[in-house]
Amino acid sequence: MVTIKSRREIELMKEACKLTNAVHKEIEKAIKPGITTLELDKIAENFIRKNGGIPAQKGYPSGIKGVPNFPATICVSINDEVIHGIPSDKVKVKDGDLVSIDLVVYKNGYNGDAARTYIVGNASKSATRLVEITKQAFFEGIKYAKVGNRIGDISHAIGEFVGKNGYSVVREFQGHGIGQSMHEDPGIPNYGKPGRGIKLEPGMTLAIEPMVIEGKPDILELEDGWTIITEDGSLAAHYENTILITEKEPEILTL
Ligand code: MG
Repeated sequence: MVTIKSRREIELMKEACKLTNAVHKEIEKAIKPGITTLELDKIAENFIRKNGGIPAQKGYPSGIKGVPNFPATICVSINDEVIHGIPSDKVKVKDGDLVSIDLVVYKNGYNGDAARTYIVGNASKSATRLVEITKQAFFEGIKYAKVGNRIGDISHAIGEFVGKNGYSVVREFQGHGIGQSMHEDPGIPNYGKPGRGIKLEPGMTLAIEPMVIEGKPDILELEDGWTIITEDGSLAAHYENTILITEKEPEILTL
């Protein structure tokens, strides 16, 4: 179901989104060669709880028999890992790594969702370009996040921009509506045809999240049942914000 948020709900949701962005700022400060991904996770969890939030991804059901619920606050996916990587005390971040961190904060009964790919130390020119194009793809997409347009207009803009720049979008995972639930309707693919899908209305809150691969679009799931990697071993990047559809320009709530 697509939910239209009232003014009051939007105010509450903005607080969750503001905290989501603040957590990213904490991660940005802390991330450097030698830190483990579990240490980053603890920084995020402590900061969220200290500020009256709950890490929404922690305990998120896998929906797959035999696969445990997601055990951590952040998803951390390095280099050829695309999304849903699990923090670990055995994985240290290294110079030149691309570290994608996706996190959802629950506060006041609402969720804020944002992802960034952090460049650790000195990454190659091509890796840096991948991160920049992924971020830019989000902004190309939200140019179409206006009343009267359709979801497919956003999807198309993202997919076209990424393809034009020589990269692939992940097709199996997509953006989504967000509010009291982390995942609400509509689904927002990162590719598609313009003019398709539901019409955008003021009060819709959407998590738009290009997931971009340097090489072929194919992905694989690791044995942990969570981590998604690129099949060809090429690099991946992720950029996501929660936005609000208004009568005018969309508002980015997690920036
Ligand atoms: Mg997310």
